[in-house]
Amino acid sequence: MTIRFPSAPSDMAGYKSERGGFEYTVTRKSVKNINIRVREDGSVAVSAPYSTPERRIISFVEEKSLKIAEIIKKLPPCVPSRAYSSEEKSRFLEKAEAICRSIEPMFFEGEYKKPRIELCSGKSRWGYCFPKKNLVRLNISLCDHPDEIIEYVAMHEYCHFLVANHSASFYYELERRMPDWRKRKASLNGNLHKNAQKT
Ligand SMILES: [Zn+2]
Repeated sequence: MTIRFPSAPSDMAGYKSERGGFEYTVTRKSVKNINIRVREDGSVAVSAPYSTPERRIISFVEEKSLKIAEIIKKLPPCVPSRAYSSEEKSRFLEKAEAICRSIEPMFFEGEYKKPRIELCSGKSRWGYCFPKKNLVRLNISLCDHPDEIIEYVAMHEYCHFLVANHSASFYYELERRMPDWRKRKASLNGNLHKNAQKT
């Protein structure tokens, strides 16, 4: 399956590994070989020479997909999980939606189709953005965090509507909308270490 990010530069595309089950981006660069990088947050970035055919890149990643999936699985959990009641979930969804709606004017002008907001769980990601599906997912574990942290994660995900990867232009878009994002991120990570020690 191939997912293309509509807002990404034309030399970048998103894919999903069939065997490994993870998503990855492919960026064309002036490099000699295909390189696969698994980031700390579990995202996978592949860079490939301009001349390499797409199917060659896909089969290269598939060959290594089980190993990559293994590496992702072994990454330290970045979200402490606990059980959430359905009331907590619906209360959090309501709050998350309100936060997302409040930042949307920074991303869309005039009439626009409101992105769908959904909850996700799991230990590897705070949020997801699926530009093609007009969908943002926020981790239910965020309900244990203050509003400015939820707002930071939402802002990060919304910036993916503009830039699919974590390149300099992504951080440019984030920074101009939320100049103190580093502080918020540090506080999110700080909470996480405290929680990680508890378990
Ligand atoms: Zn991101």
